[in-house]
Amino acid sequence: MAEKIKCLIIGSGPAGYTAAIYASRAGLQPIMYQGGQPGGQLTTTTEVDNFPGYPKGVDGPTMMQDLENQAKRFGTDVRFGLATKVDFSSQPKKVWIDDQIELEADAVIIATGASAKWLGLEGETTFNGLGVSACAVCDGFFYRNQVVAVVGAGDTAAEEASYLANLCTEVHMIVRRNEMRASLIMQERVKNNPKIHIHWNSETEEILGDVNGVTGIRIKNRENGATEEIALTGFFVAIGHQPNTSIFKDQLDMDAQEYLITEKGSSRTNIPGVFACGDVQDSIYRQAVTAAGSGCMAALDAERWLAANHLH
Ligand code: NDP
Repeated sequence: MAEKIKCLIIGSGPAGYTAAIYASRAGLQPIMYQGGQPGGQLTTTTEVDNFPGYPKGVDGPTMMQDLENQAKRFGTDVRFGLATKVDFSSQPKKVWIDDQIELEADAVIIATGASAKWLGLEGETTFNGLGVSACAVCDGFFYRNQVVAVVGAGDTAAEEASYLANLCTEVHMIVRRNEMRASLIMQERVKNNPKIHIHWNSETEEILGDVNGVTGIRIKNRENGATEEIALTGFFVAIGHQPNTSIFKDQLDMDAQEYLITEKGSSRTNIPGVFACGDVQDSIYRQAVTAAGSGCMAALDAERWLAANHLH
Protein backbone atom coordinates (compact mmCIF):
# COMPACT_ATOMS: atom_id res chain seq x y z
CA MET A 1 0.00 0.00 0.00
CA ALA A 2 1.21 3.48 -0.83
CA GLU A 3 2.39 5.71 1.99
CA LYS A 4 0.47 8.99 2.15
CA ILE A 5 2.52 12.16 2.44
CA LYS A 6 1.53 15.80 2.60
CA CYS A 7 4.78 17.22 1.25
CA LEU A 8 7.47 15.14 -0.45
CA ILE A 9 10.89 16.62 -1.16
CA ILE A 10 13.05 14.84 -3.73
CA GLY A 11 16.76 15.68 -3.48
CA SER A 12 19.07 16.82 -0.72
CA GLY A 13 21.24 19.69 -1.89
CA PRO A 14 20.96 23.23 -0.51
CA ALA A 15 17.61 23.67 -2.30
CA GLY A 16 16.09 20.49 -0.88
CA TYR A 17 17.26 21.10 2.68
CA THR A 18 16.16 24.73 2.67
CA ALA A 19 12.75 23.66 1.38
CA ALA A 20 12.72 21.07 4.18
CA ILE A 21 13.55 23.64 6.87
CA TYR A 22 10.72 25.94 5.73
CA ALA A 23 8.22 23.15 5.08
CA SER A 24 8.78 21.50 8.46
CA ARG A 25 8.55 24.82 10.30
CA ALA A 26 5.25 25.42 8.48
CA GLY A 27 3.91 22.09 9.76
CA LEU A 28 3.88 20.31 6.40
CA GLN A 29 5.61 17.24 7.93
CA PRO A 30 7.88 16.89 4.91
CA ILE A 31 9.51 13.63 3.99
CA MET A 32 12.74 13.94 2.04
CA TYR A 33 14.28 11.26 -0.14
CA GLN A 34 17.93 12.17 -0.50
CA GLY A 35 18.69 10.72 -3.92
CA GLY A 36 21.75 8.96 -5.23
CA GLN A 37 24.21 11.49 -3.82
CA PRO A 38 22.99 12.56 -0.36
CA GLY A 39 23.97 16.19 0.16
CA GLY A 40 24.29 16.80 -3.58
CA GLN A 41 27.08 18.38 -5.57
CA LEU A 42 28.59 20.23 -2.60
CA THR A 43 29.63 16.97 -1.01
CA THR A 44 32.23 16.70 -3.77
CA THR A 45 33.69 20.14 -2.99
CA THR A 46 36.31 20.78 -0.40
CA GLU A 47 36.08 24.37 0.85
CA VAL A 48 32.97 26.53 0.43
CA ASP A 49 33.97 30.13 0.97
CA ASN A 50 31.05 31.98 -0.58
CA PHE A 51 28.04 30.78 1.40
CA PRO A 52 26.93 33.64 3.65
CA GLY A 53 27.23 32.94 7.36
CA TYR A 54 30.48 31.00 7.34
CA PRO A 55 33.10 33.74 7.82
CA LYS A 56 35.94 31.22 7.92
CA GLY A 57 34.55 29.03 5.12
CA VAL A 58 33.29 25.51 5.56
CA ASP A 59 33.93 22.29 3.75
CA GLY A 60 31.09 21.12 1.52
CA PRO A 61 30.19 17.88 3.36
CA THR A 62 30.12 19.71 6.73
CA MET A 63 27.83 22.38 5.34
CA MET A 64 25.45 19.77 3.99
CA GLN A 65 25.47 17.93 7.32
CA ASP A 66 24.66 21.24 9.06
CA LEU A 67 21.73 21.75 6.69
CA GLU A 68 20.50 18.20 7.27
CA ASN A 69 20.71 18.65 11.05
CA GLN A 70 18.80 21.91 10.78
CA ALA A 71 16.04 20.29 8.69
CA LYS A 72 15.81 17.36 11.13
CA ARG A 73 15.62 19.72 14.12
CA PHE A 74 12.21 20.86 12.85
CA GLY A 75 11.03 17.34 12.15
CA THR A 76 11.89 16.62 8.52
CA ASP A 77 11.91 12.87 7.96
CA VAL A 78 15.13 12.40 5.96
CA ARG A 79 15.43 9.05 4.20
CA PHE A 80 17.85 7.31 1.86
CA GLY A 81 16.43 6.41 -1.51
CA LEU A 82 16.25 7.46 -5.12
CA ALA A 83 13.03 8.49 -6.83
CA THR A 84 12.88 6.24 -9.91
CA LYS A 85 9.41 6.93 -11.32
CA VAL A 86 6.67 9.52 -10.96
CA ASP A 87 3.09 9.85 -12.08
CA PHE A 88 1.83 13.40 -11.72
CA SER A 89 -1.30 12.85 -13.79
CA SER A 90 -3.61 12.57 -10.80
CA GLN A 91 -4.00 13.98 -7.32
CA PRO A 92 -2.35 12.90 -5.04
CA LYS A 93 0.83 12.50 -7.05
CA LYS A 94 2.47 9.11 -7.18
CA VAL A 95 6.21 8.64 -6.70
CA TRP A 96 8.19 5.40 -6.54
CA ILE A 97 11.44 5.09 -4.60
CA ASP A 98 14.09 2.60 -5.72
CA ASP A 99 11.50 1.04 -8.05
CA GLN A 100 9.67 -0.36 -5.04
CA ILE A 101 8.26 1.96 -2.40
CA GLU A 102 5.15 3.75 -3.58
CA LEU A 103 4.26 7.13 -2.17
CA GLU A 104 1.23 9.35 -2.61
CA ALA A 105 2.04 12.97 -2.03
CA ASP A 106 -0.28 15.99 -2.00
CA ALA A 107 2.58 18.32 -2.93
CA VAL A 108 5.97 17.49 -4.39
CA ILE A 109 9.06 19.66 -4.26
CA ILE A 110 11.68 18.66 -6.82
CA ALA A 111 15.25 19.51 -5.87
CA THR A 112 17.14 16.86 -7.81
CA GLY A 113 19.86 19.25 -8.99
CA ALA A 114 22.19 18.88 -11.92
CA SER A 115 25.36 16.94 -12.44
CA ALA A 116 28.51 18.36 -13.97
CA LYS A 117 29.54 16.54 -17.11
CA TRP A 118 33.01 15.02 -17.05
CA LEU A 119 35.39 14.01 -19.81
CA GLY A 120 35.71 10.45 -18.56
CA LEU A 121 39.44 10.59 -17.79
CA GLU A 122 40.80 8.49 -14.96
CA GLY A 123 42.52 11.53 -13.44
CA GLU A 124 39.17 13.27 -12.94
CA THR A 125 38.37 10.73 -10.23
CA THR A 126 41.88 10.34 -8.85
CA PHE A 127 42.41 14.09 -8.44
CA ASN A 128 38.88 15.25 -7.66
CA GLY A 129 39.35 17.92 -4.99
CA LEU A 130 43.12 17.67 -5.52
CA GLY A 131 43.33 19.91 -8.56
CA VAL A 132 40.33 18.79 -10.58
CA SER A 133 37.14 20.81 -10.27
CA ALA A 134 33.96 21.54 -12.19
CA CYS A 135 33.37 24.95 -10.61
CA ALA A 136 35.76 27.90 -10.87
CA VAL A 137 33.63 30.15 -8.67
CA CYS A 138 33.73 27.50 -5.92
CA ASP A 139 37.38 26.46 -6.14
CA GLY A 140 39.26 29.09 -8.18
CA PHE A 141 40.40 30.93 -5.09
CA PHE A 142 42.65 28.00 -4.10
CA TYR A 143 44.63 28.43 -7.33
CA ARG A 144 45.61 32.05 -6.84
CA ASN A 145 48.88 32.87 -8.62
CA GLN A 146 49.04 29.40 -10.16
CA VAL A 147 48.65 28.03 -13.68
CA VAL A 148 45.35 26.34 -14.51
CA ALA A 149 43.40 24.94 -17.47
CA VAL A 150 39.74 25.13 -18.42
CA VAL A 151 38.21 22.57 -20.78
CA GLY A 152 35.21 23.63 -22.85
CA ALA A 153 34.18 26.38 -25.21
CA GLY A 154 30.70 27.38 -24.11
CA ASP A 155 29.63 30.37 -22.04
CA THR A 156 30.46 28.57 -18.82
CA ALA A 157 34.00 27.74 -19.94
CA ALA A 158 34.54 31.30 -21.20
CA GLU A 159 33.18 32.75 -17.99
CA GLU A 160 35.28 30.42 -15.86
CA ALA A 161 38.43 31.20 -17.86
CA SER A 162 37.85 34.95 -17.41
CA TYR A 163 37.13 34.49 -13.72
CA LEU A 164 40.28 32.42 -13.23
CA ALA A 165 42.40 34.88 -15.24
CA ASN A 166 41.72 37.43 -12.50
CA LEU A 167 43.22 35.10 -9.92
CA CYS A 168 45.77 32.96 -11.70
CA THR A 169 48.99 33.71 -13.53
CA GLU A 170 47.98 31.78 -16.66
CA VAL A 171 44.86 30.05 -17.93
CA HIS A 172 44.99 27.44 -20.72
CA MET A 173 41.69 26.95 -22.49
CA ILE A 174 41.39 23.56 -24.14
CA VAL A 175 38.91 23.78 -27.03
CA ARG A 176 38.07 20.64 -29.02
CA ARG A 177 37.07 22.36 -32.28
CA ASN A 178 38.47 25.34 -34.17
CA GLU A 179 35.66 27.55 -32.91
CA MET A 180 33.82 28.29 -29.73
CA ARG A 181 30.18 27.88 -28.90
CA ALA A 182 30.22 30.74 -26.37
CA SER A 183 28.45 34.03 -27.14
CA LEU A 184 30.55 36.42 -29.22
CA ILE A 185 31.05 38.86 -26.38
CA MET A 186 32.41 36.09 -24.14
CA GLN A 187 34.63 34.82 -26.95
CA GLU A 188 36.09 38.30 -27.42
CA ARG A 189 36.70 38.58 -23.72
CA VAL A 190 38.78 35.40 -23.56
CA LYS A 191 40.57 36.04 -26.85
CA ASN A 192 41.61 39.51 -25.73
CA ASN A 193 42.78 38.47 -22.30
CA PRO A 194 46.60 38.16 -22.38
CA LYS A 195 46.55 35.65 -19.54
CA ILE A 196 44.35 33.20 -21.45
CA HIS A 197 45.98 30.88 -24.00
CA ILE A 198 43.55 29.06 -26.24
CA HIS A 199 44.55 25.63 -27.55
CA TRP A 200 42.28 25.01 -30.56
CA ASN A 201 41.40 21.55 -31.90
CA SER A 202 42.76 20.04 -28.72
CA GLU A 203 41.69 17.34 -26.35
CA THR A 204 43.05 16.32 -22.98
CA GLU A 205 44.69 12.92 -23.11
CA GLU A 206 45.77 12.65 -19.51
CA ILE A 207 45.79 14.53 -16.23
CA LEU A 208 49.24 14.20 -14.69
CA GLY A 209 49.87 14.27 -10.97
CA ASP A 210 51.36 12.81 -7.82
CA VAL A 211 50.22 12.23 -4.24
CA ASN A 212 49.84 15.96 -3.71
CA GLY A 213 47.53 16.42 -6.69
CA VAL A 214 47.60 17.65 -10.25
CA THR A 215 50.96 18.64 -11.73
CA GLY A 216 50.03 19.00 -15.39
CA ILE A 217 48.10 17.73 -18.39
CA ARG A 218 48.96 16.23 -21.72
CA ILE A 219 46.91 17.52 -24.61
CA LYS A 220 46.72 16.30 -28.18
CA ASN A 221 46.03 18.30 -31.31
CA ARG A 222 43.16 16.58 -33.11
CA GLU A 223 44.33 17.75 -36.53
CA ASN A 224 48.00 16.82 -36.57
CA GLY A 225 48.21 14.45 -33.58
CA ALA A 226 50.94 16.49 -31.88
CA THR A 227 51.00 16.18 -28.11
CA GLU A 228 52.07 18.76 -25.56
CA GLU A 229 52.52 18.67 -21.80
CA ILE A 230 51.51 21.72 -19.79
CA ALA A 231 52.61 22.15 -16.18
CA LEU A 232 49.70 23.36 -14.03
CA THR A 233 47.99 22.70 -10.72
CA GLY A 234 44.31 23.28 -11.46
CA PHE A 235 42.15 21.55 -14.09
CA PHE A 236 38.62 22.89 -14.51
CA VAL A 237 36.11 20.95 -16.55
CA ALA A 238 33.40 23.23 -17.94
CA ILE A 239 31.67 21.17 -20.60
CA GLY A 240 28.16 21.66 -19.31
CA HIS A 241 25.76 20.29 -16.74
CA GLN A 242 23.00 17.76 -17.07
CA PRO A 243 19.91 18.48 -14.98
CA ASN A 244 18.62 15.38 -13.21
CA THR A 245 15.22 15.34 -14.85
CA SER A 246 15.00 12.07 -16.76
CA ILE A 247 12.17 10.69 -14.59
CA PHE A 248 10.04 13.79 -15.23
CA LYS A 249 10.10 13.53 -19.03
CA ASP A 250 6.67 13.76 -20.67
CA GLN A 251 5.18 15.05 -17.41
CA LEU A 252 6.84 18.35 -16.63
CA ASP A 253 7.73 21.12 -19.06
CA MET A 254 11.45 21.38 -19.78
CA ASP A 255 13.61 23.63 -21.90
CA ALA A 256 15.88 22.46 -24.71
CA GLN A 257 18.59 21.51 -22.21
CA GLU A 258 16.06 19.53 -20.14
CA TYR A 259 15.97 21.97 -17.22
CA LEU A 260 12.54 22.13 -15.59
CA ILE A 261 10.61 25.26 -16.44
CA THR A 262 9.13 27.18 -13.54
CA GLU A 263 6.76 30.11 -13.74
CA LYS A 264 8.68 33.38 -13.56
CA GLY A 265 9.14 34.56 -9.99
CA SER A 266 7.90 31.31 -8.47
CA SER A 267 8.77 27.63 -8.15
CA ARG A 268 5.56 26.42 -9.82
CA THR A 269 5.90 23.88 -12.62
CA ASN A 270 3.19 23.22 -15.21
CA ILE A 271 1.54 20.70 -12.84
CA PRO A 272 -0.32 22.25 -9.90
CA GLY A 273 1.18 21.04 -6.64
CA VAL A 274 4.57 20.21 -8.15
CA PHE A 275 7.30 22.72 -7.43
CA ALA A 276 10.95 22.85 -8.52
CA CYS A 277 13.92 24.56 -6.94
CA GLY A 278 17.70 24.69 -7.19
CA ASP A 279 19.87 23.66 -10.12
CA VAL A 280 17.24 21.40 -11.65
CA GLN A 281 15.50 24.58 -12.85
CA ASP A 282 18.46 26.98 -13.02
CA SER A 283 21.06 26.77 -15.77
CA ILE A 284 22.41 30.25 -15.11
CA TYR A 285 23.36 30.94 -11.49
CA ARG A 286 23.85 27.43 -10.07
CA GLN A 287 25.12 28.63 -6.70
CA ALA A 288 24.41 27.06 -3.32
CA VAL A 289 22.95 30.31 -2.06
CA THR A 290 20.63 30.79 -5.05
CA ALA A 291 19.56 27.15 -4.76
CA ALA A 292 18.81 27.67 -1.06
CA GLY A 293 16.79 30.80 -1.87
CA SER A 294 14.70 28.96 -4.41
CA GLY A 295 14.20 26.09 -1.93
CA CYS A 296 12.63 28.59 0.44
CA MET A 297 10.36 29.77 -2.40
CA ALA A 298 9.28 26.21 -3.16
CA ALA A 299 8.30 25.50 0.44
CA LEU A 300 6.31 28.74 0.66
CA ASP A 301 4.62 28.03 -2.68
CA ALA A 302 3.81 24.47 -1.57
CA GLU A 303 2.35 25.65 1.71
CA ARG A 304 0.15 28.23 -0.03
CA TRP A 305 -0.99 25.72 -2.63
CA LEU A 306 -1.85 23.09 0.00
CA ALA A 307 -3.77 25.66 2.03
CA ALA A 308 -5.65 26.96 -1.01
CA ASN A 309 -6.65 23.40 -1.87
CA HIS A 310 -7.71 22.57 1.71
CA LEU A 311 -4.95 19.98 2.00
CA HIS A 312 -3.26 21.68 4.93
P1 NDP B 1 27.34 24.30 -23.43
O1 NDP B 1 26.63 23.03 -23.69
O2 NDP B 1 26.85 25.55 -24.04
O3 NDP B 1 28.86 24.15 -23.89
C1 NDP B 1 29.60 23.01 -23.58
C2 NDP B 1 30.97 23.17 -24.18
O4 NDP B 1 31.75 22.06 -23.77
C3 NDP B 1 30.96 23.19 -25.71
O5 NDP B 1 31.86 24.14 -26.17
C4 NDP B 1 31.39 21.78 -26.06
O6 NDP B 1 32.15 21.72 -27.24
C5 NDP B 1 32.32 21.45 -24.93
N1 NDP B 1 32.37 20.02 -24.71
C6 NDP B 1 31.35 19.16 -24.52
N2 NDP B 1 31.79 17.92 -24.34
C7 NDP B 1 33.14 17.98 -24.46
C8 NDP B 1 34.17 17.02 -24.38
N3 NDP B 1 33.91 15.76 -24.14
N4 NDP B 1 35.44 17.45 -24.55
C9 NDP B 1 35.71 18.75 -24.77
N5 NDP B 1 34.80 19.71 -24.84
C10 NDP B 1 33.51 19.32 -24.70
O7 NDP B 1 27.42 24.39 -21.81
P2 NDP B 1 27.63 25.65 -20.89
O8 NDP B 1 27.68 25.13 -19.51
O9 NDP B 1 28.78 26.46 -21.34
O10 NDP B 1 26.31 26.51 -21.06
C11 NDP B 1 25.02 25.94 -20.81
C12 NDP B 1 23.93 26.99 -21.10
O11 NDP B 1 23.99 28.01 -20.12
C13 NDP B 1 24.14 27.67 -22.45
O12 NDP B 1 22.90 27.93 -23.01
C14 NDP B 1 24.85 28.94 -22.09
O13 NDP B 1 24.64 29.98 -23.05
C15 NDP B 1 24.21 29.27 -20.74
N6 NDP B 1 25.10 30.09 -19.92
C16 NDP B 1 24.93 31.42 -19.93
C17 NDP B 1 25.74 32.22 -19.20
C18 NDP B 1 25.49 33.68 -19.24
O14 NDP B 1 24.64 34.11 -19.99
N7 NDP B 1 26.23 34.46 -18.48
C19 NDP B 1 26.84 31.70 -18.38
C20 NDP B 1 26.96 30.27 -18.45
C21 NDP B 1 26.11 29.52 -19.20
P3 NDP B 1 31.51 21.89 -28.71
O15 NDP B 1 31.24 23.34 -28.85
O16 NDP B 1 32.57 21.38 -29.59
O17 NDP B 1 30.27 21.05 -28.71
